[in-house]
Amino acid sequence: MPEGIVYLVGAGPGDPGLITVKGLHCIKRAEVLVYDRLAPSRLLAAAPPSAERIYVGKSPAGHAMTQEEINRLLVERAGRGQVVVRLKGGDPFVFGRGGEEAAALAAAGLPFEVVPGVTSAVAAPAYAGIPVTHRDLTSTLAIITGNENPAKPESNIHWDKLATGAGTLVFLMGMAHLEQITRQLLIHGRPADTPVALVRWGTRPEQQTLTGTLADIAHTAAEAGFANPAVIVVGEVVKLREQLQWFERKPLSGCRVLVTRAREQASGLARAIEELGGEAVEYPTIQVVAAEDYTPLDTAIGRLPEYQWLIFTSVNGVAFFFRRLLLAGRDIRDLKGLKICAIGPKTRQALSRYCLRVDYVPDEYRAESIISGLKDKIRPGDRVLLPRADIARKILPEALTGLGARVDDAAAYRTVPGGGNTEEIRRLLAEKRIQVITFTSSSTVRNFVTLLNEPRLPELLAGVTVACIGPVTARTARELGLPVAVEAKEYTIEGLLKAIVEARGCGRRA
Ligand code: SAH
Repeated sequence: MPEGIVYLVGAGPGDPGLITVKGLHCIKRAEVLVYDRLAPSRLLAAAPPSAERIYVGKSPAGHAMTQEEINRLLVERAGRGQVVVRLKGGDPFVFGRGGEEAAALAAAGLPFEVVPGVTSAVAAPAYAGIPVTHRDLTSTLAIITGNENPAKPESNIHWDKLATGAGTLVFLMGMAHLEQITRQLLIHGRPADTPVALVRWGTRPEQQTLTGTLADIAHTAAEAGFANPAVIVVGEVVKLREQLQWFERKPLSGCRVLVTRAREQASGLARAIEELGGEAVEYPTIQVVAAEDYTPLDTAIGRLPEYQWLIFTSVNGVAFFFRRLLLAGRDIRDLKGLKICAIGPKTRQALSRYCLRVDYVPDEYRAESIISGLKDKIRPGDRVLLPRADIARKILPEALTGLGARVDDAAAYRTVPGGGNTEEIRRLLAEKRIQVITFTSSSTVRNFVTLLNEPRLPELLAGVTVACIGPVTARTARELGLPVAVEAKEYTIEGLLKAIVEARGCGRRA
């Protein structure tokens, strides 16, 4: 039997980009993924589709599994010879009970490794513009659990030593006892005007920061209904936020954006969303798969010298065309003499990876615009090969035929609905944790509606900004009853994001 192992991996505080390279590597080879409530969904999606995902977190109603049950689960799965990733929020050994899980594995004689993570104790303040140490202000930092009721006599925390013993105090799990914590610090000599910040949902789109002093923060927090998960930062460093605040100022800060395009194409959009300070949630509504019948494309590939034009309308078309070309024992040398048209910059870029220059890219990235540009270029009788999706619209081949061209519309790939975790998206929408949904083609809209299969879709989408890449997609969305709020003027990913930012589709919640 293969030897099992458990990787105790720190998932970081919430921003999925804050996983370590090693942690991500472990997730990618997990056979079993054991995770808690705060685990970023993007990281769960990084595990192989075949990996078993086991949720062991607390539900609002209570524990899903006790710590002993989790320990037993890890021991049992590793004992079976499986590669288990135990994904824990922040760092596994900072108030994460990772030590207990490791001890259970050690006692069972099973191998484990610890992959430290970025702890919320440091990262949440950092994203709020608060360095936990600073040469001029403090040279000591204490990280403390706020879970213990400071009022109880047998407390393990020496408040008398702690209150003034460290410059910066960071409390985790402390919101329920904020009142008692601040009181203890005041009783034991910390000045009442000491600055305090509460950072909730740190590093996530929902991040919120509340500042005050030891004297008033408990009251302010209670009034604002500020609750866990939050860190409490006490100390002079909090003042630096005024100058160093950065994350909450980004254009898509506060925005969780649903990306509905195929997984192969989602990463560019997801990265751009993150650069703007938002969080991308991938929900692929399209899977790109091989065409059912390659006879027309293979025949055309066998007769390439007979064509004058090769027109690509998508990155997928490029990828599948070249796959077939290579399978036929050919390569780019067989494209000599052919003129190439790409529908947009991304398709052109995909072609450039094969060292191919493009003869024509229309100014506007729609089938209709290709025609007006090609009018003077295509001569009557020219043969055109159009490798694209099997159900693509007929408007392009018909218009080309209208110009006198002889068009072979050959299926290069096919798209089928699905590929994402519908239940999770339904939950995120119901909890109002998605602020924007992006649609980058009519099929993403159609599939989204079909996959969700939700009779009360308008209700589920209330307050959500529906953003479409262009008029065709927007029309489909409207026809299906979706409230389109943003329609890009430039039909590219950049144009779409620009339109979302301009429309302030998300904005900061106070
Ligand atoms: N091992 C984790 C801490 C687990 S205890 C770590 O290293 O970060 C859970 C507590 O961590 C929460 O009650 C909260 O105080 C804090 N926490 C976790 N994620 C947080 C986040 N994104 N923002 C603010 N606090 C967070």
